[in-house]
Amino acid sequence: MKPWMVMLLIAAGILCFLARWGKLVPTVAPVEYAQWPVVVLDAGHGGEDGGAVTASGHRESDINLQIVQKLDYFMALCGVETVLTRTEDVSLHTPGADERGERKQSDLDYRAQLVEQTPGAMLISIHQNQYSDPSVSGAQVFYSVGDVARQWGEFTQQTLCDVVDPANTKKAKQVSQDVYLFAHITRPALLVECGFLSNGLEASLLLTDDYQTRLSLAITGAYLHQLQMMNKASGGI
Ligand SMILES: [Zn+2]
Repeated sequence: MKPWMVMLLIAAGILCFLARWGKLVPTVAPVEYAQWPVVVLDAGHGGEDGGAVTASGHRESDINLQIVQKLDYFMALCGVETVLTRTEDVSLHTPGADERGERKQSDLDYRAQLVEQTPGAMLISIHQNQYSDPSVSGAQVFYSVGDVARQWGEFTQQTLCDVVDPANTKKAKQVSQDVYLFAHITRPALLVECGFLSNGLEASLLLTDDYQTRLSLAITGAYLHQLQMMNKASGGI
């Protein structure tokens, strides 16, 4: 294991310790594991749908999955229960879907159903952005309708800016209802566009373990903060 990885694991361990036993430690009633939401981690695209592509030919779907796997790892370290929409490079459509558009809709329906059928779920959907102007860069968070998602999204955006890319001035926004998955779920959800594959420098960073790890730690830390806010709001602490 590389030294930086050891340092990150120690940092993650301290973060989790503080979150669980420091700031989150209850003064009245313990916060039970069963009260914690299940986080659905969604690696966007997959299989025949690779999403955006870097100039060097790397597919968004692969980067999304690599980041989701790191998120899964760090969340597991913190005792957060997760469900992954996909763990391989596959489309999630039903076998009967013949045409590409039908397969895409079936794939998104599967993801939406998984969120809706997971009791108390909160969704984090991981994507990479692209734009015609290659100078545009920076992670951006889009949140679903509702105060919980807005608070969570704004804090996640701030954490990504502070921890990963201080030059990033992007603000969190409510997701457009044109985004099919988000129009078909009712649970608090974030769409995290981790960066722009159309920006050469950012694309090269997004391909590295180091940058993916920093993104994943920031998103995990922001989630733990959101958990703390929700517990306070419900009188749990
Ligand atoms: Zn995408």
